[in-house]
Amino acid sequence: MNLCDLVDKGTVIDYLRRFHNPNYPRKNHYATQHAQFVNGKLEGGCVRQAWYEWNKLEPTDIEPKRLFSPAIGTPIGNFVIAKWRAAGARVLTELPVYYTPLGCQHAIKGKIDALVFLPEEGNQEADKQLKVAIHYISKLRYALRKGKIDLKHYQCGILRAFNRKILPNPIEICMAEIKSTHSRGISGKFWNGPRKGERYGVKHEGPKTGHRMQLSFYRQHFPIEVGQYTIIYFSREDFYRLEFTMGETDDVKGRTFTEIPVDDFRFEQTIEKYVEQGILPKRTHDVGRDTYPCSWCRYRTRCYGADDGLVGLQVEGGQLGPDQTNAA
Ligand code: SF4
Repeated sequence: MNLCDLVDKGTVIDYLRRFHNPNYPRKNHYATQHAQFVNGKLEGGCVRQAWYEWNKLEPTDIEPKRLFSPAIGTPIGNFVIAKWRAAGARVLTELPVYYTPLGCQHAIKGKIDALVFLPEEGNQEADKQLKVAIHYISKLRYALRKGKIDLKHYQCGILRAFNRKILPNPIEICMAEIKSTHSRGISGKFWNGPRKGERYGVKHEGPKTGHRMQLSFYRQHFPIEVGQYTIIYFSREDFYRLEFTMGETDDVKGRTFTEIPVDDFRFEQTIEKYVEQGILPKRTHDVGRDTYPCSWCRYRTRCYGADDGLVGLQVEGGQLGPDQTNAA
């Protein structure tokens, strides 16, 4: 028996089980996939990848190495939260944020990793208030998940809680996103090529644009403005930790970054248009199959194989049908 093979096999089986769950993947936009131009560069997800998922076309590239990294992010996030709690913080996790842009039928959904409150030591009154707050929001979140209330009621419930002072002063709250990474994601060095000798990684370049965009989206669409917005990176290889807080300037050494206005929703509008018409869109990232993000995409073989250069294929019963319009 090869135990490593068993890990790989279980990882793929878990992924496929989730993929074939009738409730997943849903026809939803996700804050983690949102794409728009930032400083003249297109950042974020791929329209064609979302289109494959919305049409429930099974991924072609699901070897374990592509699945480990997202799967391991959850236990690392839970580990970090458990340590915050052990240190005396009260933490609310996985708070839903939804926003339906103009021109879209479907909401963009996201989940804030954590709202962290640190009650003053010995202040039992504040601690008691935090317990009530956590209980109240947990109930709201549960009701939303079970469909007992809609998004509008959920958001009103959170606003009402602050207005009635069930929740602590927002200025004392930190909204946190936890990102697990490998050690080179924190700090690495180019050993050859045109950038030889240069350092890369969040320690030298600041938080990734996609992560900044995600936290900015949460700030712009969570009903309450809080006192601090932070991205924390945790290396799963050498346990290096680094955090960046949203501020007035982009200062890598000062560990601050600026907010990104998430205000261009052509990405989501395009997905909906092509899904509604049942037409395969062009690639958002036409960078070649061996360049990131295509090199890590779960649809790479399909996209650069059978569907290479094609647009205008219609989806019938989960399969691509005859060409309806044109080939690029
Ligand atoms: S391979 Fe690249 S272009 Fe094709 S679906 Fe994936 S990310 Fe998009």
